[in-house]
Amino acid sequence: MLLRTSTLLLRTLREDPADAEVPSHQLLLRAGYVRRAAPGGYTWLPLGKLVLDRVTEIVRAEMLAIGDQEVHFPALLPAEPYRTSGRWTEYGDDIFTLADRRGAEHLLAPTHEEMAALLVKDLFTSYRDFPVTLFQVQTKFRDEARPRAGLLRGREFLMKDAYSFDLDEAGLQRAYDRHRAAYQTVFARLGLDVTVVRAMSGAMGGSASEEFLAAAAVGEDTYVGCTACDYAANTEAVVTHAPAAGDPHTHPALAVHDTPETPTIASLVELANDRALAGRADWTAADTLKNVVLTVRRPGADQAELLVIGLPGDREVDLKRVEAALAPATVAVFDDWPAHPELVRGYLGPQILAKHAVRYLVDPRVVPGTSWLTGANEPGRHATDVVCGRDFTPDGTIEAAEVRAGDPCPACGAGELTMRRGIEVGHIFQLGRRYTDAFAVDVLGPAGRPVRPTMGCYGIGVSRLVASIAEQHHDDRGLVWPAAVAPCDVHLIAAGKGPQLDAALDLGGRLAAAGLRVLVDDRTHVSAGVKFTDAELIGIPLAVVVGRRLTDGYVELRDRASGERVELPLAGLVERLLDEVTGARPGRV
Ligand code: ATP
Ligand code: MG
Repeated sequence: MLLRTSTLLLRTLREDPADAEVPSHQLLLRAGYVRRAAPGGYTWLPLGKLVLDRVTEIVRAEMLAIGDQEVHFPALLPAEPYRTSGRWTEYGDDIFTLADRRGAEHLLAPTHEEMAALLVKDLFTSYRDFPVTLFQVQTKFRDEARPRAGLLRGREFLMKDAYSFDLDEAGLQRAYDRHRAAYQTVFARLGLDVTVVRAMSGAMGGSASEEFLAAAAVGEDTYVGCTACDYAANTEAVVTHAPAAGDPHTHPALAVHDTPETPTIASLVELANDRALAGRADWTAADTLKNVVLTVRRPGADQAELLVIGLPGDREVDLKRVEAALAPATVAVFDDWPAHPELVRGYLGPQILAKHAVRYLVDPRVVPGTSWLTGANEPGRHATDVVCGRDFTPDGTIEAAEVRAGDPCPACGAGELTMRRGIEVGHIFQLGRRYTDAFAVDVLGPAGRPVRPTMGCYGIGVSRLVASIAEQHHDDRGLVWPAAVAPCDVHLIAAGKGPQLDAALDLGGRLAAAGLRVLVDDRTHVSAGVKFTDAELIGIPLAVVVGRRLTDGYVELRDRASGERVELPLAGLVERLLDEVTGARPGRV
């Protein structure tokens, strides 16, 4: 393949576009890989399409290597199967829905569990047909609340989605493990630093699930590791260690105190110590019970419900954790105080919530027998010795509190949690029978009785991967593609016109004939300096500069990643580059 810059649909930009905030988005726009075409929608320019296709091919090859079979479902689907599975409403505002000319409701599929289950039901009748795994690489549509960061969160994006069908749990576990291993191979081949973490299952349903997070400061996911063991989890999935419950009846009686002007935890703690409330002057925020009012809307429900969350006052509520815990419901901060006079802002305590039928969930640290300083449900007043299991009874627990670096590890208890940010590039789930139940997918079992297959599903964000690789592989001059996904193997730069250009084109032709992907900067109206700057921005691993030393039979080879430059004779250069690209040099390809 030989591309010529003079005719390529490419325009590089010197400045960061105003609407691009994260490095991958800025660089992919500036270097001419993508153009924004719609909110959350991007056009792949020729260089970008080459990278996307190489990434897709690596993903596809590793899926085929584990025996998955490629299919292709329509993206435009009738509503019916999604109604049957319940996801028409569960996915809520995130799905694009539309009606055809006859008024029949359709959707642009956000993912295809329903179709995979129906296809297997359609074609397979016997246990002998199993196990089977189907996959596709397809454009998905989601009406994301916050499309952002270019390809990282689009409303239209490319996904590889696979669906496994097994007859028993052991089979599902094997399929899951196979995909887990294949994913690690995919990400290693792509040159991505990825961590596998425990995850929540979200709108997908099902039980065991893990995410593959590519380390990146701009990532939307926060995940924890442990200093002592190999525990790794998305903060959404971190489980708080609950202390042992105690006897609620050993504490002094609840006492109400005047605490004027103390609507915040900090002001309350200060006053409690100044006045030695309940005879103590060692109050800390962790002794207080903070009650946060939220509204929760279940998919399809007209009205949001009130939810109060109680947690130790030294912790903030992490809304992402709350949403993950309550998925598929959505959550908002409550602000309609006038409509609920029973909720006294700044002085709310759980003592009255049951009476008003307000749902109350607590942090796992709020166990029966714990005693708290909390609101007395009157302006300017708080209560001490408000005891869980005596003065209030929560409706359950919820993982709502922020996770902090230094928290004890929930797995080993010995280590401390460390925190990093990452981009979710893949997600694997053991779904179970949610979808095969919904569509009554039954096949004839070995004993003549019907058996119902169990499913796994495995997603990779293919277009998001391109941005994730860019996020991990760039410097202040531009992109630095790993060789496995670069749009071209070699960027030939004709520093001048005439013989230098002729030699560059000749060399380009010979490299392309040898099977390399080549971009020749054959522009005659721009300076060598501009070409060098563009080459660094575009980020092809190797550049060959055909310049003044051509008269002596030499060109310069530049390594984009190391910055290393060497002069090489033109004679034998094709073989030399071929060796270099096909991996004769260890660690290159
Ligand atoms: P997220 O938590 O980032 O919204 P998700 O949990 O909704 O992702 P899945 O339903 O698990 O995503 O989809 C499989 C994969 O598709 C994800 O791991 C991610 O890499 C990719 N993906 C999901 N949503 C988007 C999007 N809006 N734009 C680009 N890629 C996406
Ligand atoms: Mg996910």
